[in-house]
Amino acid sequence: MKTDALILGGGLAGLSTAYHLGRLGAPSRLVAEARARVGGTAGSVRSDGFTYDYTGHLLHLHDPYGKDLVLDLLAGNSAPHERRAWIRSRGVDTRYPFQANVKGLPPAVVAECVAGFLETVHRPRALPRRPDFLSWSRATFGDGITRHFMKPYNEKLWGMPLSRLTTEWQGRFVPKPTASEVLYGALAEQNALFGYNASFRYPIRGGIQALPDALAARLEPGVVRTGARVTRVDLREKVATIEGLGEVRYERLVNTLPLNAFLDLAAPLPAAVKDARRRLRWNTVWNLNLGVARPNLTDKHWIYFPERKYPFYRVGCLTAFSPLSAPAGHSALYVEVSRPGGARVDRARLEAAILDGLRESGLLKRSDRVVSKVWLPIEVGYVVYDFARTPAVETIFRHLGGIGVESIGRYGAWKYSFMEEAILDGRRCAQRLAGGEGAA
Ligand SMILES: Cc1cc2nc3c(=O)[nH]c(=O)nc-3n(C[C@H](O)[C@H](O)[C@H](O)COP(=O)(O)OP(=O)(O)OC[C@H]3O[C@@H](n4cnc5c(N)ncnc54)[C@H](O)[C@@H]3O)c2cc1C
Repeated sequence: MKTDALILGGGLAGLSTAYHLGRLGAPSRLVAEARARVGGTAGSVRSDGFTYDYTGHLLHLHDPYGKDLVLDLLAGNSAPHERRAWIRSRGVDTRYPFQANVKGLPPAVVAECVAGFLETVHRPRALPRRPDFLSWSRATFGDGITRHFMKPYNEKLWGMPLSRLTTEWQGRFVPKPTASEVLYGALAEQNALFGYNASFRYPIRGGIQALPDALAARLEPGVVRTGARVTRVDLREKVATIEGLGEVRYERLVNTLPLNAFLDLAAPLPAAVKDARRRLRWNTVWNLNLGVARPNLTDKHWIYFPERKYPFYRVGCLTAFSPLSAPAGHSALYVEVSRPGGARVDRARLEAAILDGLRESGLLKRSDRVVSKVWLPIEVGYVVYDFARTPAVETIFRHLGGIGVESIGRYGAWKYSFMEEAILDGRRCAQRLAGGEGAA
């Protein structure tokens, strides 16, 4: 087979590249997707009458073009929501973000958090040019907020000491309140909504899979090939070996597979790139989805769990976004546990610990019947922003750029981002391939 543009991976970034290339009049393009369905991390799985996502996938739409496109694709099949996110610690639920809502915690904790924050305002600490996350958190939020939330929560999510993490990923994702907001939130219920995900949309029907399905439906038949796992890419000969398709010759290559996986099947690579590849670190998100025979289990969208006694870092309720995610009279929960990429996990033991933790938290009652359990692990869930990541990524991209290979999307670009950005990455990539800022 031959194609002008070969796109590896049929998640949102790959589908968007194909869609926008089509709008720019690209001669031919082919999307090779390993799974039976498109969507990747933004896909859903139907089981036992439930529709489960790969953990919560809410649509944060910030870009006018991205918003118009997503709403057009979903064609009325989405509803707006105002975030109802909470944090469970010290046996108390406080509103997210922790730093702006400490009211309700034990008085000594509230005092420590507020005093620490005020100290950062009155005696700012100097930080190096590339601070570690722990020092940055102490300088930005103070010692109390760091001790009671930032440190335990982020250590659980990232699975490493925060002194080894950079702050490069946090800009859009960690809200920074003012001193008066911190004070107000220590005294009263704060109504202000903080952060990039304060409001969002979610499909009414079909889970988040509705979005990639709608994008794929805009492509001509034959552009997307599912069940087409890429096993080898010869970068010199410009030939990829793909299950079910055999050898595919291409002119241009767009990778959206996780960068580590792509580099493992691409050759030849210079020693410096192979060395940089070995320095990439990631976390696997072990996502357990549960169907429970009880309606309206909680109206909270999701809850963060910073404490060690719970094995999970976050639990969300799919039926709080869309009641149609479960059969009538049922609720659907998603549970997220983070482990270093490649670590062995005993699912049966983890499942038992999760169920114990959910009962201990009160989310599940002893009398609740769990009627469905589906594991949807995300092998590369979070790219780890340790101090090796950015120099390694720069080395890799210098080489890939030099041989005309694009690598985009959350995992292809090896970054922390969200669905709208994956769609926009695909659009920008198509524009680059088409040779300019066309009207894609
Ligand atoms: C826990 C978690 C929660 C998230 N929550 C949100 C949220 O609430 N809102 C939001 O906007 N974003 C969220 N995201 C981010 C969102 O999932 C991603 O930004 C987006 O889906 C990335 O799309 P992509 O196309 O770049 O990558 P992917 O979706 O990973 O696409 C890559 C594709 O490549 C395929 N593939 C892999 N190997 C091969 C191979 N060898 N051959 C062929 N195909 C292959 C995969 O099957 C996949 O379809 C979350 C991510 C995680 C991990």
